Amino acid sequence: RIFDNPHFDAHESVVFVHDARTGLRAIIAIHDTRLGPAAGGCRFWNYESEDAAIADVLRLSRGMTYKNAVAGLDLGGGKSVIIGDPRAIKTPQLMRAFGRSVERLGGAYTTAEDVGVDVEDMEHVRETTRHVAGLAHGAHASGDPSPTTAKGIVNGLRRAVAQRLNRDDLGGLLVAVQGLGHVGWHVCSRLHEGGAKLIVSDIDAARVERAVSEFGATACAAEAVLSVEADVFAPCALGAVLNARSIPALRVAIVAGAANNQLEDIADADRLHARGILYVPDFAINAGGIISVSREIAGVADPDWIAGRMHQLDANIAAILAEAEAERVSPHHIAMRFAERRLDAAGR
Ligand code: NAD
Repeated sequence: RIFDNPHFDAHESVVFVHDARTGLRAIIAIHDTRLGPAAGGCRFWNYESEDAAIADVLRLSRGMTYKNAVAGLDLGGGKSVIIGDPRAIKTPQLMRAFGRSVERLGGAYTTAEDVGVDVEDMEHVRETTRHVAGLAHGAHASGDPSPTTAKGIVNGLRRAVAQRLNRDDLGGLLVAVQGLGHVGWHVCSRLHEGGAKLIVSDIDAARVERAVSEFGATACAAEAVLSVEADVFAPCALGAVLNARSIPALRVAIVAGAANNQLEDIADADRLHARGILYVPDFAINAGGIISVSREIAGVADPDWIAGRMHQLDANIAAILAEAEAERVSPHHIAMRFAERRLDAAGR
């Protein structure tokens, strides 16, 4: 059931895609196009059920609406998921079939990388649709968005550290990072360069070992990272990690990370606030990737364009945190208000 699914939020369209030859099963959700055509990544994940995939794509596409709005982009919210284990079923043919399904939407949705999908996959998607970004080649190609996402995460984390811990530099700061994938790795690298100490976790033991040797990080079991003592917790894996079960066990002052939909429920923003933990809203802090991708979508050649947008994003985070402190509410509510103001103005 879609229309009365708890995560359905007046989405404009939800498209189910199937290709018998390649085994492609995908869902493309377009949440809101008041600000422009929808844009958001494609996630390739071995969902435990179809319901789980539907919930994820509905939550992710809605998040993109708010992310694009806060980042000041003229893009709507959309996202896609491909169902299955990428290591078992991902082929160039399957990615081309996915591209054909994006092409059929006629530009209403532009895709890019997300969990389980890389630049090479997007090059295959490009063979069958123009509506793809995050490419390695072609006019205005923006490549992997993760380094820009990571830059925004560390900028936002610095803002939170300045406000909550009254510290201007990262030296000696203890950060627990969950997930050492595309973004998590770059986040660790930047934090390490800034002098922070790292506690790292990933379900992939090889990545943890690499982080231990490259960054001198301390390894932590995947399930333990949510209760480890640190200054900052940086969730850079999957969503819904902040919930009624995990929040009481957190032993950090700040949560600032890349993962989309970190809150299982909106009430979790208030749970964090009640515990005195400063939460930097995920959809605001992780917009660097979509900023990078949007330059390619818009065909902007100016090399300074991204830097200007990133500067604005940093200023927005600072304003969100300052307003939240002044109003004594979770920054999540302030970021939603920022986004809704833009969406309402565009709607009028
Ligand atoms: P990725 O697939 O490259 O990395 C995810 C990592 O998390 C992998 O190393 C995986 O093994 C690990 N992981 C999965 N479950 C885990 C668990 N329970 N505990 C610890 N580690 C676990 O994905 P990515 O591109 O780095 O994205 C990470 C998150 O950031 C996702 O939520 C994504 O939606 C979000 N995000 C990514 C971008 C981007 O530019 N790539 C932009 C905005 C938001």
